[in-house]
Amino acid sequence: MPKYVELLFDVPLKQSFTYQVSEKGDESVGKRVIAPFGRRELTGFVIAERDVPPLGVEESRIKQIRRVVDKEPLFGPDEIELSRWLSAYYFCTQGEALAAMLPSGRRASSYTSFGADDLEEGYDGKGLSLSGEQETALRSIIGTVGGAEDTAGRSATEEAGAGGSRVDDMLSASRTALSPVLKSAPPYKTYYLYGITGSGKTEVFLRAAEHFVRRGKSLIYLVPEISLTHQAAEAIGKRFGTLAATLHSGMSGSERLSEWMRIKRGEVQIVVGPRSAVFSPVRDLALVIIDEEHDASFKSGNTPRYHARQVAMRRCARTGASLLMGSATPSAEAWKLMSDGLITRLDLTKRLSGGSVPEIKIVSLEHTDGCLSYELKEEIRKTALAKRQTILFLNRRGFAYFYHCKDCGFELLCKHCSVSLTWHKARGKAVCHYCGYQSNPPSACPSCGSLSAGFMGFGTEMIEEEVRRAFPDLRVTRLDTDSVQKKGSLEAALASFRAGAVDILLGTQMVAKGLNFPGVRLVGVVFADTGLHLPDFRAAERTFSLIVQVAGRAGRFFPDGKVLVQTLRPHDEVIRKACALDVEAFFKAELEQRKEQEFPPYSRLIRVLSRSRDAGRADNAIHRFRQIVEGLLPRGADMLGPAECPLSIVAGNHRRHILLRGTDMGALHSAVRRGLDLYEVGKDARVYLELDVDPVSLL
Ligand code: ADP
Ligand code: ZN
Ligand code: ZN
Repeated sequence: MPKYVELLFDVPLKQSFTYQVSEKGDESVGKRVIAPFGRRELTGFVIAERDVPPLGVEESRIKQIRRVVDKEPLFGPDEIELSRWLSAYYFCTQGEALAAMLPSGRRASSYTSFGADDLEEGYDGKGLSLSGEQETALRSIIGTVGGAEDTAGRSATEEAGAGGSRVDDMLSASRTALSPVLKSAPPYKTYYLYGITGSGKTEVFLRAAEHFVRRGKSLIYLVPEISLTHQAAEAIGKRFGTLAATLHSGMSGSERLSEWMRIKRGEVQIVVGPRSAVFSPVRDLALVIIDEEHDASFKSGNTPRYHARQVAMRRCARTGASLLMGSATPSAEAWKLMSDGLITRLDLTKRLSGGSVPEIKIVSLEHTDGCLSYELKEEIRKTALAKRQTILFLNRRGFAYFYHCKDCGFELLCKHCSVSLTWHKARGKAVCHYCGYQSNPPSACPSCGSLSAGFMGFGTEMIEEEVRRAFPDLRVTRLDTDSVQKKGSLEAALASFRAGAVDILLGTQMVAKGLNFPGVRLVGVVFADTGLHLPDFRAAERTFSLIVQVAGRAGRFFPDGKVLVQTLRPHDEVIRKACALDVEAFFKAELEQRKEQEFPPYSRLIRVLSRSRDAGRADNAIHRFRQIVEGLLPRGADMLGPAECPLSIVAGNHRRHILLRGTDMGALHSAVRRGLDLYEVGKDARVYLELDVDPVSLL
């Protein structure tokens, strides 16, 4: 029994802390404990045991642990190592890293595992015979045919692997700067299943999973955030029973914890879940699957701002597991790697379940009153007459989007943020989507008193009203974060849509992702322009993939699918290419532009953001950081800013940022590391510095 233990806390302090073990003395590495910290009590992670106090620390001054939370260790050396890497790569403390990796619940008495009984007839491809393309893809991934194993996977990594991997350089940490261990690790194989929507990617993933599970190996299967109803999760529950663990954001902390423990004990061979599932402590990892690789939810929006793809690469590099990604709309990064032949691309070009690629038409909204064009209404009517279903997509919640005065130009902004308030008619409030602030809508312009002022632009609530007015006989369901507040309501809504009890499903991203419903004939993109002109170099990429993904919900089982894309910019190149489903052409133009502007994938970025209640302090801090880091930048690197962030105030905090840009992430990273060390000395404690490595959003 040790006398002392070293603890890490989920706080922005770098060091570990020494404590005396409790009376019971059941502390051991990998457990969580409750310990006094300043005037509070905090949960700490035991990362080491020791028999003597650290040098120079008086025994009597070492505080004692109050109690131990876990019966069995939650984590071991592998997780501690991964947390060390995570903290180095993403500039957070190791305690913050561990906290992000581990489930945060109390000990649970029982667990709910994903059982087949919970499911209605859903996806079950067991009896399917694979198509030729699927078969070829699967063969490359599991490598059964003699040498074929290696022609696909290894050649790509070999090319990349000699000395230092170029794959790694593009997408992951520079080996030399961050993780000397990686140098000697075997290169891992990376595959990309590039297949149009509905081409049977899921089935290939599942067969690959089966292959490894049967051989006693484990896998991690990552899916985007809003897909608790993802067909893969269902199918995995059915096919793998208790060998599978499913994690999702609807689970409570203790449910998550008990799944984690099952994984830790080696009872589970396949874990399905959103980005945090990438930390699952599986044994004998053979494969990490990232479904819908382009999805932004794989990047965390809080410290540590990790990308699950990056963490997956790190784990693959350490363990020799393979990485398998897939999408109909790859990210620009992945597309470039495929084009350069650095990762193996496997193509699926056909729809397999009787459908075909839908007809996609652009409809100009220029001369339409309201938000439903004549054509869209006609198609909804036709679809209903044919006893089929419609999905309407709009990426904006609420009723109306912003408040504008025609006389003086006044706009109604949130009191705490520099964003417009959205009119939520059902609630009768103007609401901020960033901080939740609400106010009563003004009856006249608050600035000049004019009555020619009001909310404009439309959101899902308004579409719902307009659709109900135009089609009083049709059954309509709206799906967005406002309408599915209650646990289980999303599943219920989707189930009734699948059962044919709803004619029109309308909503935000929730209706865009992964849904596979036979009854859908028509998809309407109500307003394709929403994200197009955000001040973010990924705006076009996001708009493109969103349109292609939504369009992919139509015509999956019958060859009469139809998609109407409404826009105010019918000649916009991004929208046109999306409607032509022309991924090649889109990326050709997009990558040329990125290259010219030196944005990723032609460079790597680190974003440094200062935030403070006080604008002046935020300004000073970012300028000070800039001055420090300027002298440290490696050759070929530069700096954009400092500037106000596009969202310059959020929840009362003023935000300023700079973007550091370079082609060598390792060198850029060390410059920032040194800059931060210098910045620490004499920093303004009332400013918080946020670090974002490989940022996905620049707002
Ligand atoms: P993706 O993930 O590529 O969008 P899905 O995996 O959702 O595509 O597959 C679309 C549909 O095709 C599913 O209903 C699935 O059951 C069906 N499917 C997949 N593979 C086959 C096959 N080999 N033969 C017939 N149908 C298939
Ligand atoms: Zn006014
Ligand atoms: Zn706000």
